[in-house]
Amino acid sequence: LQRNPLTYEGGGVELTDGTRMQLLANIGGAKDAKAAAEAHADGVGLFRTEFLFLDREDEPSVEEQTAAYLEAFESFPGKKVVVRTIDAGADKPLPFLTDSEEPNPALGVRAYRTSWEKRSVLTNQLDAIAAAAKASEAKAWVMAPMISTTEDTEDFVALCRERDLAPAGIMVETPSAAVTADRQLAACDFASIGTNDLTQYTMAADRMLGTLAHLNNPWQPAVLSLVKATCEGARTAGGDPDGFGESANKPVGVCGEAAGDPGLAVVLVGLGVNSLSMTPRSLPAVAKVLSTVSLDQAKQLAAAAVSAPTADKARDAVRAGLPILG
Ligand code: PEP
Ligand code: MG
Repeated sequence: LQRNPLTYEGGGVELTDGTRMQLLANIGGAKDAKAAAEAHADGVGLFRTEFLFLDREDEPSVEEQTAAYLEAFESFPGKKVVVRTIDAGADKPLPFLTDSEEPNPALGVRAYRTSWEKRSVLTNQLDAIAAAAKASEAKAWVMAPMISTTEDTEDFVALCRERDLAPAGIMVETPSAAVTADRQLAACDFASIGTNDLTQYTMAADRMLGTLAHLNNPWQPAVLSLVKATCEGARTAGGDPDGFGESANKPVGVCGEAAGDPGLAVVLVGLGVNSLSMTPRSLPAVAKVLSTVSLDQAKQLAAAAVSAPTADKARDAVRAGLPILG
């Protein structure tokens, strides 16, 4: 693959049986958005809004945020841009939002949880996203990071509905969200699996520690099992009180680094995800490999990976079935 420079032309990728898969980009701001559009991403699957404010001592104003979101939206008229609300804490501390004194910041008041005490930071951000969405041709989706209970989800979705922000979804980054995915998705419109954190929390291994890299590996069968559980939950989610989309089969994407690994991308598609979001430079290789498999083949490779005894054996099983990976 690396010997032949590849390109991605956009418009999604078609598996050999005609199944289409959306390939989206992860961005941190307007500059990334422009580069992602130039790489023909079909939209944005993860806009890490905290990246705009990492060096800030004070909360940015609603006007400043609106302008920043609008600038990023400009690169994707008519396309989906999934805006994640501020994911502060642990690996991404923000002075105006997180407490640096916590002994275990990854298990602390981070991400969505910061809204329990500092609610106005979340509501101000949602006001800014709603204003930017109204002024832009992009299709703004909004989601909350690090959700662990359905109360979190219901609370977030209610705040979004009050502002006519739809669809409203959650990131599945904790085992608790994955194993309750049917109830989580009954309460919201879509899910996006953050495999970086889902791996950290499933394997109980700090993602910042190089010594634990073998555990922080999304090929771990335990992680793949939770991706599978999330997709199965989405298929069976009941109820649709707000009338958005279907009552089951709500969209599930993946926006962690795993989505940009061509072999894992095949596994994720086989487990039932509808979209993959990645760093734009991964788009060509992922598109190329996906275009060589059918959905049935992807399902078979996914089943082999999920039931493998180890991460290495999961990867080996997929490599054996996909000679194109080399
Ligand atoms: C993830 O956890 O997989 C994710 C996409 O979010 P982040 O890497 O920003 O925590
Ligand atoms: Mg995360």
